Amino acid sequence: MTGWLSVIRFDEPVSLDHVGQPGRRGGCPLSPIVWFLRMRTVLRVFLAITYLAVVLVPLWLALGADPGSGGPAYELSMATGLVALSLLAIAYVLPKRVRALSRCLGIDVVLGVHRLVGLAALAFVFVHIVTVLAIERGNLALLDLTSAPARARAAVVATVAMVLLVVTSVWRRRLIPSYESWRAVHISLAVTAVVLAGLHVWWLRHLVLEPRFRWWFLALAVLVVAASLRRWVWRPLSSWTRPYVVDAVRRESPTVSTLALRPSGHRGIRRFRPGQFAWIRLGSTPMGFEEHPFTIASAPRRSGEIEFTIKQLGDFSNGIAEVAVGDKVWVDGPHGAFSPDHHRSQGLVLIAGGVGITPMISVLRSLAQRGDQREHLLFVSARALEELLFREEITELADQLRLRVVELLDKPHDGWTGGTGFLDAQVLATNLPRRFGRLDFFICGPPPMVTGVITSLRKLGVAQHHIHTEKFDFV
Ligand SMILES: Cc1cc2nc3c(=O)[nH]c(=O)nc-3n(C[C@H](O)[C@H](O)[C@H](O)COP(=O)(O)OP(=O)(O)OC[C@H]3O[C@@H](n4cnc5c(N)ncnc54)[C@H](O)[C@@H]3O)c2cc1C
Repeated sequence: MTGWLSVIRFDEPVSLDHVGQPGRRGGCPLSPIVWFLRMRTVLRVFLAITYLAVVLVPLWLALGADPGSGGPAYELSMATGLVALSLLAIAYVLPKRVRALSRCLGIDVVLGVHRLVGLAALAFVFVHIVTVLAIERGNLALLDLTSAPARARAAVVATVAMVLLVVTSVWRRRLIPSYESWRAVHISLAVTAVVLAGLHVWWLRHLVLEPRFRWWFLALAVLVVAASLRRWVWRPLSSWTRPYVVDAVRRESPTVSTLALRPSGHRGIRRFRPGQFAWIRLGSTPMGFEEHPFTIASAPRRSGEIEFTIKQLGDFSNGIAEVAVGDKVWVDGPHGAFSPDHHRSQGLVLIAGGVGITPMISVLRSLAQRGDQREHLLFVSARALEELLFREEITELADQLRLRVVELLDKPHDGWTGGTGFLDAQVLATNLPRRFGRLDFFICGPPPMVTGVITSLRKLGVAQHHIHTEKFDFV
């Protein structure tokens, strides 16, 4: 491992040391950012209040229940059951592509919260079961599926579905290697758990007969049904009028191709923040199960044309090179918050591993379009030279922007004069400017690389709020 890196385009030595000095704001339009940051803060506060309400309202309902109905154990079982139901509903709704959420928090955070809320729901379910069994020994019979009443059977199967959701997610690669199969299993288990948990409460009757419980239960039911209809019916139907057609397929490397799309009969996605992604689906209709997330690699264009640069990894991405000009593509986006446009940065440090260059190239193209004057640093790492994507274009962009580029190869060929090995703390420290603490760091690539770079940056003293990441993996 050497700490020496090649600088492919750096005619005038650019120093980032001015950062933090007053009056040097750079080329980003400030007011929309300030507006966005304010909106984001408001939305975050709203989400935090909603989350607290979801947990506290059922507790309040349960603690205020008729004390004659069974004592503290009964109250505890009811409270934990209701909290579990509320958390389950929230965990179900979170990944349903609520754009405001992913734009405000970022898809990684939304899915992270989805996982945590799901685990919390399961924990409450277990406490609920233990307290129900503690109320009366005879309640053990409720676990016998052959003789238990329907409400208890629904609860048992819902619990098994929740346990399977956790197990198949934690050990996804080992248990269900195909992502699409895993996704089908995950969605089926989630629907089973939510529907049966709802039926369990409904069949308990005494809860839904009490007006305040009934309202809470109805609110959760409406939330779950509305999110499902929006996700599985409304969104596909509404994209029917918004097809894209393939304009060109370009080979970027032996394993990476760019898909250039133009909107057909509509204006297309003309406004997005560089770094955002969209779900794309191939085929004659937008009504299919298989769709995949890809970063929009182009900068926003008036024509609404967009590009995706896709690495061949499996059945879907392997087919991209074979897509024909004129084929239909369905695009659901933009989503995500991985964009420097969401931050008042004084300079950017972009760190890309492999095809993780796609959000970075969109950012650089957009910065060049805007005539950005700030100083930026780009680290790109790849296994071999042919995997360093957009080399020529990045060299041109470095001419237009105040951009320094650092390249690093894992398996360099003979004669490679640049850096080798992994992007570790030493490599970063060697190449970062003196006052790097106020820069914003954007990291994208395979999950282990992203995790490693975060650890290195934290070791170097970069504050967490200056580190922004996107992992090209959801589970
Ligand atoms: C926010 C985001 C942005 C991305 N941007 C790009 C990009 O610009 N260029 C690029 O080449 N890749 C990108 N990816 C990765 C890309 O989505 C996967 O490589 C692709 O879906 C692989 O599908 P496959 O059927 O070809 O391979 P598979 O063998 O089916 O999948 C390989 C791996 O990709 C992931 N994956 C597969 N399908 C999905 C799916 N529907 N949703 C989420 N993850 C899935 C899984 O972790 C899986 O293990 C991005 C991923 C995310 C989450």
